[in-house]
Amino acid sequence: MREIVFIIEPDAGRVTIESSQADARIAKEINKDLGTGSVVNCARPKLEHGKSPIESVGEKSETESPDESIYLYRIYHRSTVDGPGRRSVVQVAGCSIRCAGCYVPETHERTNGKLTSISDIVEEVDKKSGEHDGVSILGGEPFDQPESLQILIEKLKAKNYHLVIYSGYTLESLLARESESVKRILAKTDLLIDGAFMRELAGRAGEYRGSSNQRLILHPISRRKK
Ligand code: SF4
Repeated sequence: MREIVFIIEPDAGRVTIESSQADARIAKEINKDLGTGSVVNCARPKLEHGKSPIESVGEKSETESPDESIYLYRIYHRSTVDGPGRRSVVQVAGCSIRCAGCYVPETHERTNGKLTSISDIVEEVDKKSGEHDGVSILGGEPFDQPESLQILIEKLKAKNYHLVIYSGYTLESLLARESESVKRILAKTDLLIDGAFMRELAGRAGEYRGSSNQRLILHPISRRKK
């Protein structure tokens, strides 16, 4: 079944519509009824008017511990395709998986991002707290920086944000690392979307996913303990 999601914000007087699955006739009807809006994003969000992807977030200061930083590609807000509701999205830089047909190859090299203060990232997310329903972390590959990711996740969870993580690794392969950082990250993750992107399975992949092999796993650690 084709789905269109309407997110209504009475306080802000705003309607956000996720209509990527809508056929052209219905999209035209929506435009007619609600007026032509502005495109917030798509599966490959556009950059804001000539801004650097991470212009709003400072680089790591010299005095800060290197453990308190992460290679960041960019942050964007009000995404409706990267998890439930409206998401603030932290897109990290660096991916060692390199799936064929990856639609964000520009994030593969860490050097395409910047080593960025985790506190500054959390501050940026906080600034938009009235405009999102949670935070999604994707890449690149978040679990290529597990210690930094752990700090980021713990800081965000301390503020009670709903957290989604995308990983090209499966849950099983993450658990097989037997890493304390990975376990702590997964214990605080509300939704893990796992598995490498597979170009041949990209058609009708399902909600929030790039290809249909990827799974939506709620509370990945607690689920496995049952
Ligand atoms: S894991 Fe994600 S970022 Fe990395 S190559 Fe695959 S689709 Fe691209």
